[in-house]
Amino acid sequence: MLKILLKIHSALLNFFFPPECIGCGKEDSWICDFCIQKIQPDITRLSVKIPHFKYVWALTDYHKPITEKIIKRIKFRYCKEIIYDMRPFFRIALSNIPFPKGAILCPIPLHFIRKNSRGFNQAEVIAHEFSHITGMPVTSLLKRKRNTKPQTKLNGDMRRENLKNAFVSRDKELIKLKKQTPILLVDDVTTTFSTLEECAKCLKKSGYRNIYGLVVSRSLRHQKK
Ligand SMILES: [Zn+2]
Repeated sequence: MLKILLKIHSALLNFFFPPECIGCGKEDSWICDFCIQKIQPDITRLSVKIPHFKYVWALTDYHKPITEKIIKRIKFRYCKEIIYDMRPFFRIALSNIPFPKGAILCPIPLHFIRKNSRGFNQAEVIAHEFSHITGMPVTSLLKRKRNTKPQTKLNGDMRRENLKNAFVSRDKELIKLKKQTPILLVDDVTTTFSTLEECAKCLKKSGYRNIYGLVVSRSLRHQKK
C-alpha cells in the first residue's frame, strides 16, 4: 500500500514539477547529457586507507557545486530518479577502480522510519546502480537499530557518539557469506567516515576482515583530525 502511495506521489510530483536539469534547467531529465560531464571522477585524491578498512574509494568531491546539489536533492527532496541519471558518470568512475575479486556490495542501512518517510534508502539505490555496472551482487548485511539524529548538524566526536551501537549485523544473511569475502560498504557521501567505521566494526565483530568502502562523494571539510 505504502509503495503504491509513493508511486502516486512521485507521479504527481513529476506532473506538477516535471524533471529539469539540476545544472542548467533543461527539461526532461534531472541531469542533462552536458551537465553530467561536469562531474569528474577524482578517485586518486579522495580515496584513503582508514582504520577497519582495506581501502575506501570516493568517486568525486562533494563540494563541487553540482555534486552537492545532487546529494541534497536526493536526501532532502526525495528525488530517487536523479541517481539513475548519474549512470554515465558511475560507468566512467567505476571503470578506474581495481575491485577485489568476488566482492559484494552492502548499502549502509537507514532506519526503517527514515526509509519509510523518504520512500527509499539512497545507499541501496546507489548500490544497485553499481551492481548493474560492475556485476557485483548487492546484499544487505546490516540493520540500523536506532533512528539516529542526522549527522549533518554534528561535529566529528558527536557524530561518532551519535552512531555508537546504531547498527547490528543481519546474521541470516551473513551466514551465507564466507569470512574472506570482500565487502564493499556503499554510501552517498562521507565526511568523517564515522558511519562507515561503525558499520565496519559491526562486520568485524562477526569475523569479516576484508572490508572496503565505496562512496559517491567525499567532503574534505570537517575532517576529524
Ligand atoms: Zn544541464
